[in-house]
Amino acid sequence: MLAERYDALLFDLDGVVYTGPDPVPGAVKSITALRELRPVRYVTNNASRTPEQVSDQISALGVPCTSAEVTSSAHAVAELLRTRYPAGTPVLTVGGKGLLTALRERELEPVGTLDEGPAAAVQGFDPEVSWRRLAELAAAVHSGIPWYASNLDLTIPTDRGIMPGNGSLAAAVTNATGRQPESAGKPEPAIFRTALQDTGGSTALVIGDRLDTDILGGNRAGMDTALVLTGVHGLADALYAPEAQRPRYILRSLRDLQEDLDQRIDQAYAGMTVADGALRMQDAASGAGAGADAAPAPGGTPGAVVPGHAREVTAAVGNSAGTTGRAAVAGSSSGTLAGNVTPESATGAPALADSPGLADRPDAAVLTAALRRCWEALDAGVAIDESPLPGSWPR
Ligand SMILES: [Mg+2]
Repeated sequence: MLAERYDALLFDLDGVVYTGPDPVPGAVKSITALRELRPVRYVTNNASRTPEQVSDQISALGVPCTSAEVTSSAHAVAELLRTRYPAGTPVLTVGGKGLLTALRERELEPVGTLDEGPAAAVQGFDPEVSWRRLAELAAAVHSGIPWYASNLDLTIPTDRGIMPGNGSLAAAVTNATGRQPESAGKPEPAIFRTALQDTGGSTALVIGDRLDTDILGGNRAGMDTALVLTGVHGLADALYAPEAQRPRYILRSLRDLQEDLDQRIDQAYAGMTVADGALRMQDAASGAGAGADAAPAPGGTPGAVVPGHAREVTAAVGNSAGTTGRAAVAGSSSGTLAGNVTPESATGAPALADSPGLADRPDAAVLTAALRRCWEALDAGVAIDESPLPGSWPR
């Protein structure tokens, strides 16, 4: 299975393990099983909560979890500092309990004032932070010592809505000093390296729901990445993602980690081409091809989206006449996968083959392979049709 190809599994939390107070469907069962096979780490930018608080929340959902399985951006920045400064180095610290603990665990000495001679300054989220603390930090930054941040998230979700995050607090100091901190949290690679190092392994799969944090950061860390479609970003986002944010895998849910996905992607990928404006797919097993010849969906008309059937991916591809459009990808009962864009459908809804057997298909592999082909087409200079997608496309 896919998960067994790696020494460790590095999970994002929100949108992957839970959404607000509720577990993501299937996540509890999958992670519980995967945890028996490989070391698991939860990678979170939230530096204000201790690992115990995070692991308690995960455990309460029904996933066995210890605090040692939580890697926060506080860990990451403390580890980053420890690689650059010897034990006992005083560090001006503005942050919460999680950051103070992480620094002390790595034998660094948090101090509160510039007068104590810090060699560096570090800032993590702290809901109790005051102007005086930020002013002390600004004084340290003015003095010219290096300035680090656990993470630079501009916002933080709370039960009262979106509130200023550590990046916004750091921006106050940036406004006063003209300097920027070096961050260890996502989308920087340090947090993923810290998590992997902690497992003792050498290869990891990063699993997240955001392209601009989880996937970008994992890619920057030189790790394989998987976008799971249970959170913020969907297929259309993946399609339009810049190269640095493209995941290696697209997962419908964490259950796909227990599939032999890599092999299936290779099979699906081998049968896909972009030609004459269509993303054409040929089922490796059946040898049947489809594309421009795909029959209209039963009960539908060419170019119509069939209600109740999966619309699994949208793909912007160009045709030989230079018209741009989208291909919709779906499975069919005959074992054929079809995507088809014609100049007509490019201005309306995508052509779509019917897909009654879709649930039985290796969809994550197909999705990933289709996205890869589409990225190739886009990289070859095909223009993207930016008009709104019809209907409710999968997120
Ligand atoms: Mg997330």
